[in-house]
Amino acid sequence: MANPDCLFCRIARGEIPATIVHEDELIVAFRDLAPQAPTHILLIPRAHLASLLELADDDGVLLARLMTVAALLATDAGLDRSGFRLVTNTGPDAGQSVAHLHWHLLGGRPMSWPPG
Ligand code: AMP
Repeated sequence: MANPDCLFCRIARGEIPATIVHEDELIVAFRDLAPQAPTHILLIPRAHLASLLELADDDGVLLARLMTVAALLATDAGLDRSGFRLVTNTGPDAGQSVAHLHWHLLGGRPMSWPPG
């Protein structure tokens, strides 16, 4: 179910412009507006889930799609050899700023660990 007030729901519906790099019946992927790496793509479910905390047992197909599309997009960006990071921020301490579940696909530069 989409949330009419949610920024990422509105991007998924095409109401707010974004550079879409993949879309299908389950997920949408688009370039982050403020990229933190040469490749910075956000992957979201079309359905509104506020965060990872709202995922259910029967979301397995959705999760598999998100992960396999992330790997394909990383490979398309030439990151399969150099490496990349896939991360979802959950809640205030993690810095989640948009309350619609999303994964950041980051790559194209060396990254440190642990993250800041
Ligand atoms: P987070 O802080 O983990 O919730 O990530 C939210 C991400 O959404 C940030 O990296 C923002 O730069 C990005 N963002 C916010 N608004 C837009 C937008 N309109 N189009 C693309 N990315 C956006």
